[in-house]
Amino acid sequence: MPFRVTLSLRPEVSADESVIKAASCREAGINTSDLRGLRILRKSVDARGKKIMINLSVELLTKDDPEEPLIKPFVPQNVVNSQEVIIVGAGPAGLFAASRLIELGLRPVIIERGKDISERKRDLAKISREQKIDPDSNYCFGLGGAGTFSDGKLYTRSRKRGDNMRVLELLCLHGAEHNILYEAHPHIGSDNLPSIIRNIKNSILDAGGVLMLGKKVTDFIIESDTIKGILTADNEKIYSPYVILATGHSARDIYNICARRRIGLEFKPFAMGVRVEHPQELIDRIQYHGYSRGKYLPSASYSLVAQAGGRGVYSFCMCPGGFIVPAATDQEEIVVNGMSPSQRNSKWANSGIVVEVRHDDVARFSRFGEMAGLEYQKYIERLAWVNGGCTQKAPAQRLADFVAGVSSDSLPEVSYMPGVTLSPLHEWLPESIATRLREGFRYFGSVMKGFLTNNAVITGVESRTSSPVRIPRDPETLSHPGITGLYPCGEGSGYAGGIVSSAIDGINAAEAISRKVNS
Ligand SMILES: Cc1cc2nc3c(=O)[nH]c(=O)nc-3n(C[C@H](O)[C@H](O)[C@H](O)COP(=O)(O)OP(=O)(O)OC[C@H]3O[C@@H](n4cnc5c(N)ncnc54)[C@H](O)[C@@H]3O)c2cc1C
Repeated sequence: MPFRVTLSLRPEVSADESVIKAASCREAGINTSDLRGLRILRKSVDARGKKIMINLSVELLTKDDPEEPLIKPFVPQNVVNSQEVIIVGAGPAGLFAASRLIELGLRPVIIERGKDISERKRDLAKISREQKIDPDSNYCFGLGGAGTFSDGKLYTRSRKRGDNMRVLELLCLHGAEHNILYEAHPHIGSDNLPSIIRNIKNSILDAGGVLMLGKKVTDFIIESDTIKGILTADNEKIYSPYVILATGHSARDIYNICARRRIGLEFKPFAMGVRVEHPQELIDRIQYHGYSRGKYLPSASYSLVAQAGGRGVYSFCMCPGGFIVPAATDQEEIVVNGMSPSQRNSKWANSGIVVEVRHDDVARFSRFGEMAGLEYQKYIERLAWVNGGCTQKAPAQRLADFVAGVSSDSLPEVSYMPGVTLSPLHEWLPESIATRLREGFRYFGSVMKGFLTNNAVITGVESRTSSPVRIPRDPETLSHPGITGLYPCGEGSGYAGGIVSSAIDGINAAEAISRKVNS
């Protein structure tokens, strides 16, 4: 049996592997000469006390322990002649569904509206340079979906959904650093994600999977409440009795198709607000008790929650050492999001600060039925576009001014590349959101001294935190209760949120289909 020990080390000490080895052996009472291997199981920063420590959980293998691979390998089957399964969308849900289908001996046929990664990069550059959004190739659409140019934080709140360790392992098998397996807050970084997505694509193609890029699904082929396949924008019909719908929360046209085809949808609570950006150095000093982080500590992050006017207000997708990015999928809307490179070394710290939106909050849009939340989201994104000056420049205001309800007369430098426009967000954000945000920010300023400052800027709007619509499914079969063979999954189904949980959802859909095929 391998030994397991826990260590609490000063940051500069924890950076030295030989010290970890010696301290672990001492703790376990074994000789370093008997050690065959050492594996970190968990690593976290403990900044609760004045003295910041790195906590480690370590496994020690001696010569008597059996050799086991660190990661269970990915074992693809050749699926060229196997039963085909259509997957709409090549985001984390679609790609991980495809990988799992291949392991299970089924052939994925992925249909993706967007482009490959290098072309997509050019379209992203155009957003900042020409203020132009390509509705099929942007931060949300294209190979890898919203995951490709995301921040790549890999936490999921739910452990119930499935095997999140398997998702992390598959990412490692395709090029991610092994530290994601043990860090308390694993992070890949926007500079490393594209090559990992490319490797996943290649392993799907090598096994005989199919990937069609630049193909947009515009309808479903349904007969007697059973799916038969899909129709694409170029009028191609592709057939399969199994369709995984993994189109993400920004595919509004897909929700419209579902509504038109009377594929039952449901309203889903979601959250909206702004992105706040501070100098990273300020966040480091707040979180590290007045000290800068130095060489051995990571850029500091935070996670904040408050209650305001009967709704939760919370930080979302915090990106230390990161950048705010334009994540709209259409021209006449502004959507902000955040990302950070693996080193998290920009001079800014940004995070979404969002307010829960429930059914009551969208009463004004009730004529849209189950799509009321989506219409409310569209309305606010358009308001941001108008107030930003009808380009991809985002409306922005100094944080303390927003909370005090006064207009700012200048802005500090911000990370958002398309640029920002000075705007009184306190005046035009819906009262139900602005009031709660102000209350939330006041509370955050009381628990993190220095947070509520005019050195911070808010930009609007952070509106795509999760799907405002749910495409229901049977909890056992995971297929839509009204349409046999249709498997809604990932963030767009309303049952997942974030990279890991969407990937797990994709894996679960693949396994459900395999069970059906083999029944
Ligand atoms: C800037 C940014 C940073 C983020 N940072 C993080 C993070 O750090 N951690 C985290 O967990 N999450 C993060 N996210 C969210 C994360 O990326 C998503 O939760 C995740 O990608 C959802 O996966 P998905 O496969 O369900 O959907 P998506 O990734 O949205 O993929 C859906 C795919 O479907 C395609 N599609 C849509 N409609 C059609 C159609 N009609 N026909 C064909 N194809 C279609 C789209 O082009 C897209 O490629 C971030 C998102 C962004 C934008």
